[in-house]
Amino acid sequence: MINLILFGPPGSGKGTQAVTLAEKYGLIHISTGDLFRYEMSNDTPLGLQAKSYMQKGELVPDEVTIGMLRNKVEAHPKSNGFIFDGFPRTVAQAKALDAMLTDKTQEVSALIALEVDDDEIVARILNRGKTSSRADDNDESIIRNRINVYNRETTPVFDYYAQTGKTKRINGIGSIEDIFDRLRQEIDQLS
Ligand code: ADP
Repeated sequence: MINLILFGPPGSGKGTQAVTLAEKYGLIHISTGDLFRYEMSNDTPLGLQAKSYMQKGELVPDEVTIGMLRNKVEAHPKSNGFIFDGFPRTVAQAKALDAMLTDKTQEVSALIALEVDDDEIVARILNRGKTSSRADDNDESIIRNRINVYNRETTPVFDYYAQTGKTKRINGIGSIEDIFDRLRQEIDQLS
């Protein structure tokens, strides 16, 4: 069983890498951002709830996000493990995830952080915005707000898992293949 948290600021490449890693290791990829966008595009009550936060680059409230994540995890009782992408983004979410995994007699195997500096992130997201049609990717002030929210609310999640020695950092700059290799080297060391 591998339960991996792919960690890093918005635009650091988590989604891109998570898709290939999930395939290689036979894991279920859960992206909370993708789940919210799916709900929004279907105008579900959950989507409508998330929309106002996402458009401003704020976090969707923990209870909403945790409930959605729990449903997704419970939908895959027989999986070999999960890659969490975009979750946990707050320490409360991390504690909820730990409790959920403990109930299944499992735990977080590792948190791997993709390190990318702010200017590179803004450039990447603005570039993605040209084709993604994501409203939160097209406005530099919203992108800067997402980075501020990340620094304020999400970086404590790294410190939380660092206490138990589960954190690893890799350089998130380079080709997609190079970064995949760096991730693979870390994951292959997990038992
Ligand atoms: P990125 O990491 O590129 O900013 P995501 O697709 O992961 O994009 O997330 C987009 C938005 O979805 C976030 O800015 C936030 O509003 C919402 N969101 C995603 N995951 C979470 C989460 N775990 N907790 C709260 N809000 C979330």
